[in-house]
Amino acid sequence: MSQPWSKPLDVDRLSRGAAALDFDLALRQLPRLSSRAELIGGSVRGRVRFGRESGHAVADVSLEGGAQLQCQRCMLPMEQPLSGQVRVALLADEAEAGAVPEALEPMLARDGRISIAELIEEEVLLSLPIVPMHAAGEPCAPLDALEAASEPVAASTQRPFAQLDELLSHK
Ligand SMILES: [Zn+2]
Repeated sequence: MSQPWSKPLDVDRLSRGAAALDFDLALRQLPRLSSRAELIGGSVRGRVRFGRESGHAVADVSLEGGAQLQCQRCMLPMEQPLSGQVRVALLADEAEAGAVPEALEPMLARDGRISIAELIEEEVLLSLPIVPMHAAGEPCAPLDALEAASEPVAASTQRPFAQLDELLSHK
């Protein structure tokens, strides 16, 4: 059983046909992301356009989405927007990498095949912080949370003299 996004696609056929494929997948479906402990969830969507340039099969990838990550300071969830754009040269052989124009990102398509997941994974990883943490100004920091939790509950003793006033007034 395989997800459609992990299915290897025929690069030559797609690039000759100038195919455009839309994708929308959960981040957990990306192999190198599923192993990251701080990933709670999220998804990425976008489009891949295949074509040819300088004798190479190329893929234009544009993506956007959002990741839910665990803040590594307060351990609570945080939102990380994702966006990226990359132009990839799909190589049948690693030896071709030297001949790829600088504007293109070389990527190996083993046996002339590549999956959408493989194509977008690197770009998604680049959009994610190495150590996710809440930005300045957002609620964060475990110390604040601990202090709040250890404060005595004051609600029941808020008006210690209210009852006394009442007793006096009934005299
Ligand atoms: Zn935080």
